Amino acid sequence: MKNNIDEVLKSQEIFFNNGNTLKIEDRIKKLQLLAKEIESAEDQICAALYSDFKKPVFESVLSETAFILSELQYIVKKLKKWARPKKVSSSLINFPSSDYIYSEPYGKCLIIAPWNYPFQLAISPIMGAIAAGNTVVLKPSELTPNTSKILEELLQKVFPADWVSVIQGGVEVSQELLTKKWDYVFFTGSVSVGKIVAQAIAPHLTPSTLELGGKSPCIIHKSAKVQLAAKRIVWGKFLNAGQTCIAPDYILIDSSIKKEFIDAVQKEVKSAYGTNPKDSPDFARIINEKNFDRLSKMLIAEMCPIGGHLDKEQLYMAPTLIEEPALTSKVMEDEIFGPILPVLSFYSEEQMAGIMANYSKPLALYVFSEDRKYSEEILGKYSFGGGAINDVVIQIANKKMPFGGVGSSGSGAYHGKHSFDTFSHKKSITKRGTWLDVPLRYAPYGNKVGLISKIMKKL
Ligand code: NAD
Repeated sequence: MKNNIDEVLKSQEIFFNNGNTLKIEDRIKKLQLLAKEIESAEDQICAALYSDFKKPVFESVLSETAFILSELQYIVKKLKKWARPKKVSSSLINFPSSDYIYSEPYGKCLIIAPWNYPFQLAISPIMGAIAAGNTVVLKPSELTPNTSKILEELLQKVFPADWVSVIQGGVEVSQELLTKKWDYVFFTGSVSVGKIVAQAIAPHLTPSTLELGGKSPCIIHKSAKVQLAAKRIVWGKFLNAGQTCIAPDYILIDSSIKKEFIDAVQKEVKSAYGTNPKDSPDFARIINEKNFDRLSKMLIAEMCPIGGHLDKEQLYMAPTLIEEPALTSKVMEDEIFGPILPVLSFYSEEQMAGIMANYSKPLALYVFSEDRKYSEEILGKYSFGGGAINDVVIQIANKKMPFGGVGSSGSGAYHGKHSFDTFSHKKSITKRGTWLDVPLRYAPYGNKVGLISKIMKKL
């Protein structure tokens, strides 16, 4: 394996240094071919996702294949424009000159992907890296072997190995890859592994994007339309069986509407998944036994007015609501990442803020409210990656908005042009005219201090 990684790296370095990734037309052709291959393999990709964790086909199309195809189309359409040097107004102190920002690729990029959206979260950063002119080594998740296999086959069809390579494996392979010198590292996964990645790449000062997680709150104000809030939250929380990094982790609700909300969630769960969600074709499974056991422990000694049913053999956990867990309970300790929704009520804004203060800056925050001033106040008061008012999760659908965390939920962002920018170094270039050479800056400085001070302060 060691040889293989080193060989791949060497060949990618030669490929990149020979300028093979520089032509925008070549990048566009490859991205178009990638789109074509994804389209023709769509059924197999959905089947692989189903065999990995019973991901419903509708959810696979919505959040994996069609999601990617739509972004690919957008990147292909805009790439020429994004890649052009950007002219900016020049500084008078450099007169005569014209100033530009050039986007240059970093070189060899390592992309490490998680299992929860195993296709989308591998291909989406690859599209950005390729659009920007880099080479890529992808380490997909070991927990979704069928999807990871398809990813490899598909990428092999489109790219030579010295442009894009897939290296399969688990933690050891990932750690081995991280010992190498990369020009950029893009990691999506848990906060704890994010820290390991940051430490591993620090000796080389490798630039990186860390797409991590956290406990994302969902605030429901007393002015909210409760039934609609419940419908949207049930969709966003139980999509992918709650294994979504931007799913609402816990609900903070005005105590006066808590009962109405719980009744509404009950109705919406039944309407979406029937009386026994285990029989529903629209509800996914927990990824593996380890995560199933981790989630099951969160239910011990908790009050579950909705759900709570488990079937370890089928890795099934029902859409579950926990009412008023203690802040010291397992479910409120860490990111849940499963179909469990804790509901905590508050009597005052201070009490609500006190609960949120227990957690680091989250990846997402949601507010349900008909009171615009209140929602804006919340947006201004708390720091988080991104979010929505009166909905959950859907902010990710707009390719014009950057997607990423802040603080411990991550650093850097991507999607659409933000992906191109993430994988490009921005090189500032001043092109000086030679028909004039203002003598002001040159020694001997003599009595020019006053003049330079005045000019600089005016610029
Ligand atoms: P994970 O951190 O366990 O694994 C992610 C990747 O890192 C995998 O490819 C895995 O092989 C590798 N890895 C695992 N342990 C490692 C180690 N010790 N050293 C080096 N590499 C290691 O995450 P996961 O369980 O696959 O995904 C779930 C987590 O990812 C959740 O916390 C979720 O919030 C987060 N997530 C974030 C985003 C985002 O866009 N911000 C998206 C999806 C998931």
